[in-house]
Amino acid sequence: MCTLLKMLAYVTKNGSILNNDLTFSLILSSHFHFFPCQGTWLSPRRWLNLQEYQSKKLMQESGVAVQRFYVADTPSEALEAAKRLNAKEIVLKAQILAGGRGKGVFDSGLKGGVHLTKDPAVVGELANKMLGFNLTTKQTPKDGVKVKTVMVAEALDISRETYFAILMDRSCNGPVMVGSPQGGMDIEEVAANTPELIFKEVIDIFEGVQDDQALRMAANLGFKGPLQRQAADQIKRLYDLFLKVDATQVEVNPLGETPEGQVVCFDAKINFDDNAEFRQKSVFAMDDMTESDPTEMEAAKWDLKYIGLDGNIACFVNGAGLAMATCDIIDLHGGKPANFLDLGGGVKERQVYEAFKLLTADPKVEAILVNIFGGIVNCAIIANGITKACRELELKVPLVVRLEGTNVHEAKRILTESGLPITAADNLDDAAKKAVAAIKK
Ligand code: ADP
Ligand code: MG
Repeated sequence: MCTLLKMLAYVTKNGSILNNDLTFSLILSSHFHFFPCQGTWLSPRRWLNLQEYQSKKLMQESGVAVQRFYVADTPSEALEAAKRLNAKEIVLKAQILAGGRGKGVFDSGLKGGVHLTKDPAVVGELANKMLGFNLTTKQTPKDGVKVKTVMVAEALDISRETYFAILMDRSCNGPVMVGSPQGGMDIEEVAANTPELIFKEVIDIFEGVQDDQALRMAANLGFKGPLQRQAADQIKRLYDLFLKVDATQVEVNPLGETPEGQVVCFDAKINFDDNAEFRQKSVFAMDDMTESDPTEMEAAKWDLKYIGLDGNIACFVNGAGLAMATCDIIDLHGGKPANFLDLGGGVKERQVYEAFKLLTADPKVEAILVNIFGGIVNCAIIANGITKACRELELKVPLVVRLEGTNVHEAKRILTESGLPITAADNLDDAAKKAVAAIKK
């Protein structure tokens, strides 16, 4: 079960609605959000994510109201930026690809990834405790994510925080607006405890956001008097942006109101449709891969999908369902999967080799379990890849192989004649038992 949860977390983490303030509660509260994620799961791909400052640049270009800001990579740059802003109050925000920063903690001891101050000198000191340190929030792995950039922005008084997002929703066959008058840092709790405060408005992709829809959403968000018109205007601009950049989600939390009567987007997360990469070159050029897991990225290079777990049996499988089943059956026999690598269909010998390299590079691995069901996959190709990898990589850990399906007899012959110490298994259950036993020896 634990394995399953981890994998689900992986799926959601890499799904289209990832890293945003409302992520988890929304996925869990309305099942349909899960399905778009499964698309990610079944075919190897990663979704482009931008840092807040990059998203805000795009927003500015679409006439969306954001506060003035600069970006800094060093404490002294941050200090300079704070002085240059010449603002009454400054907000310093750590840039990582996860939400919940306001309530996050740094391994430098500093609390909060978002700080307000009136003194530019303090910005330098705070940036010093942010840059180069890991920030852990509700949405990051438990060791957090290293902060390499901070955003130094003009702070504005916020009299009210609302939540607003536009996302692609499969059950509506198109975009939908989601909003709540109770925005801000505790939006997850709002979604969980008071779902009646979450409002939805389905957008007709051919007609776009209608005036009455935008005004109704603005009213539902609690914007009154002239602010209602202003908020509706921001909503329409956000939708224009959503279309223009081929987003799958634009999330603003908080969409705030200032005492001076301005509606401002204080935070921004945009997810993009990878299929649109060819026509969104400038957006995709901003991609920052440094927060991605290096092994996952190396795997992606070979069109393989790798997922790290914390046990000691490496799983080499084809297909997401088989991956889950393999991990679970290992669990059932008292073992723990160290990772799994999904080969997918149409595999080449070279990929099998690279896959083995990735699996064995993990020092936790004490045994490898190959579980391939050859449908599209030709088992002989797998067998050749395995024997080549075993020889060239001088495999030191026990290897249990279960192959079934297309060309399996030829595959078995290749493995037997190789003379390599490979343990053959008859079925999945047998394979899992043998892998677990191999470690106990
Ligand atoms: P996260 O969602 O990652 O916690 P936010 O950008 O939403 O980060 O910032 C957290 C909180 O900090 C916001 O909910 C808001 O209360 C406050 N905040 C953010 N930007 C500003 C700003 N420019 N001026 C004043 N307060 C801000
Ligand atoms: Mg936020």
